[in-house]
Amino acid sequence: MRIDILTIFPEMFDGPFKHSILKRAQERGLVEINLINIRDYATDKHKRVDDYQYGGGSGMVMMVEPIANCIEDLKLKNTYDEIIYMSPDGKLFDQQMANRYSTFQNLMILCGHYKGIDERVREHFITKEISIGDYVLSGGELAAAVFTDAIVRLIPGVLNDETSALSDSFQDGLLSPSVYTRPYNYKSMKVPDILLSGNNKEIEKWRMEKAIERTKARRPEMIDDEEE
Ligand code: SAH
Repeated sequence: MRIDILTIFPEMFDGPFKHSILKRAQERGLVEINLINIRDYATDKHKRVDDYQYGGGSGMVMMVEPIANCIEDLKLKNTYDEIIYMSPDGKLFDQQMANRYSTFQNLMILCGHYKGIDERVREHFITKEISIGDYVLSGGELAAAVFTDAIVRLIPGVLNDETSALSDSFQDGLLSPSVYTRPYNYKSMKVPDILLSGNNKEIEKWRMEKAIERTKARRPEMIDDEEE
């Protein structure tokens, strides 16, 4: 998979993309992540990428020209499955969407800032708008990092077998059951004995019961929705 991220703050991705699973996925050649600085496509000598809002009001708006130039340039070299704008008024991101996007080959992700981007970019270039939650961030970078992490870990070969993504919360319509590791006894707090029994069938049954219990307690609508 190839992911091109358009941003005015490429350094913001140094943390999330240079460690752990995302780092390994890139090293293994399973994903190529390119950070493209929108400012490189600014047309005036001050490399300006934002300007005042027409009609007045507080907050700057990201200008159409640098973004349009950037997208057009990239489209000359690649064909994109989707050109995504991270936006609080976009479609709410969930695990089902993550599963679907993880099968795509070429994605472009645009990160906004300030008051957002000029509407004409959204109308003419963007094919999907995605929100990571009903709250407002100061920029699209953290949202793009969340989206990228959620989809890249689902690409076959990224996770090792023992961390199979299939048993994660939401994948089977349930939250994950509790997990434990050594020591067995920590200050008299013990691991449920069933997990040490070696009886895989019983362990699976226990896990399923715990998953249902937890989902009913914390996210009852996940179970009610299934039954409808
Ligand atoms: N004025 C806009 C918010 C702009 S926030 C509004 O009220 O809708 C600045 C940028 O942060 C946006 O352009 C977007 O790229 C990003 N952003 C903020 N919240 C987000 C969210 N919940 N999901 C995805 N991107 C978000």
